[in-house]
Amino acid sequence: MSEVDKAQTAQAGGDTIFGKIIRKEIPSDILYEDDKCMAFKDVNPQAPTHFLVIPKKAITGLSAAEDTDSALLGHLMTVARNVAVEQNIASSGYRVVVNDGKNGAQSVYHLHLHVLGGRQLGWPPG
Ligand code: AMP
Repeated sequence: MSEVDKAQTAQAGGDTIFGKIIRKEIPSDILYEDDKCMAFKDVNPQAPTHFLVIPKKAITGLSAAEDTDSALLGHLMTVARNVAVEQNIASSGYRVVVNDGKNGAQSVYHLHLHVLGGRQLGWPPG
């Protein structure tokens, strides 16, 4: 099933697969971790380098973030930038994507930044 198909029925509520990754109940390929967030490789990469940056705080998506989360949202972007450098995609360029809700094709209702690089990406997205 595609991510778009999954997004048709996915919805906020309760624990998610990313909650299990944060608690180390299921394995993931972790690239970075601190007290506020984690970065790990996407299990179904859409580019040669594709990792996710997620807050440890359970925010269902960008549209559910509050104004008081601004510092945390900025931290996620900073970590995305730093891990992109470590993963050697920064010099050629990369993309940061946040899918939100059904039309945004969000399938996991725990806020995450996609970071994609290592090839020429097309625009506009589908
Ligand atoms: P989205 O469609 O924006 O909600 O993206 C969810 C992303 O999570 C997809 O790119 C999936 O491949 C990825 N994903 C789902 N489960 C896992 C997992 N266990 N480990 C790493 N990435 C995952």
